[in-house]
Amino acid sequence: MELLVVPQGEFKLSRYPKRKNELLRAWDAADEYLLNYLDQLNFDRQGLNVLIVNDGFGALTTALSTHIITHWTDSWLSQQGVKQNLPDNNLNNSTVTFKNSIETPQDDYDLVLIKLPKSHAHLEDQLVRIKPFLLDTTTVIAAAMVKSIHTSTLKLFEKYIGTTKTSLAKKKARLIFAKVDKNIPEIKSPYPRSYLLEGTDYKIINHANVFSRESLDIGTRLFIQHLPKSECYKKIIDLGCGNGIVGLIAAEKNPDAEIIFTDESYMAIQSAQENFVNAFTAQRKAQFIVNDCLTGFENESVDLVLNNPPFHQNNAVGDAVAWKMFKQSKKILKNSGELWVIGNRHLGYHITLKKIFSNCEMIASNKKFVILKSIKN
Ligand code: SAM
Repeated sequence: MELLVVPQGEFKLSRYPKRKNELLRAWDAADEYLLNYLDQLNFDRQGLNVLIVNDGFGALTTALSTHIITHWTDSWLSQQGVKQNLPDNNLNNSTVTFKNSIETPQDDYDLVLIKLPKSHAHLEDQLVRIKPFLLDTTTVIAAAMVKSIHTSTLKLFEKYIGTTKTSLAKKKARLIFAKVDKNIPEIKSPYPRSYLLEGTDYKIINHANVFSRESLDIGTRLFIQHLPKSECYKKIIDLGCGNGIVGLIAAEKNPDAEIIFTDESYMAIQSAQENFVNAFTAQRKAQFIVNDCLTGFENESVDLVLNNPPFHQNNAVGDAVAWKMFKQSKKILKNSGELWVIGNRHLGYHITLKKIFSNCEMIASNKKFVILKSIKN
């Protein structure tokens, strides 16, 4: 746990989930810049109605908790991070309103603070959706590391919010100031978008922050071509499901199996649910769970886990999430249960899987990707 020192106070902050020997901080220089900047403004120190968008692990929410805060994010991990960091600083969770990305915050906000999300589409969706609730008097400030601010980012603010300026860079971070212009016409969000899954009649719906939202990912394409079929599979998990294509094709191949879709993104789970219900109607048994990997699943309860793991998390590159997904899969698989993984060749997942399961077979491959299978025994 590290100490964030800003004019608002000193705050002990951790990432979520907490890990032994964590090397990454729970905030960045853009959070510090924004908090320092806010302190210099002539704002009341408490009682403002503040919307905080994409606050990673709660640095902004914790430091500004004297105000009336709405925390809006697509990430379940971020929400949990805030819910952990507030009480760690003797602050009360009940003072913050948590909204996930499927809901739209609808209040008269004095201040809207936005940490830029990773994707342009996600930012566009967020700006379009909050615009109708901004007042002439609402102050809108975004913050990010310089490398994440492009001309196209500023154009989005100009297009949807109003005249946009940026600050000087400090510690490689920058602030964006957008003046609310009520003359800019409000439009409906261009998301979710959809495409027809090649070779099928499935219309695949993708909310704005979903992996490979415009077309089928080439790794996923190889994976669905080789998904297994067996009467032994009664319970199948699509782990890190994104729009749920993998679970959808697994459901088609295994008509009697129950499919459980899980992801840490609310938009992923929403997309997976819409896609599954469109394909099979609500009669087909399935579960849709927002979660960190497989935390809380019953041990030895599942026959098959299908996984296309993430290898970037909140801009931190690493295979920690994949490791966790594989280890938890082993726990929740029944004896003889199977974990099937698709990954880029260079990620070396076969080594990790062999360490965890003591076995790993290559099912298929192409120049870029491998499909690997490990059996619990
Ligand atoms: N299965 C989909 C496909 O093949 O198109 C998406 C795969 S994408 C490479 C990885 C997914 O893992 C993303 O949807 C991401 O939101 C999800 N993810 C990342 N970290 C996670 C975590 N800690 N727990 C659950 N899901 C996570």
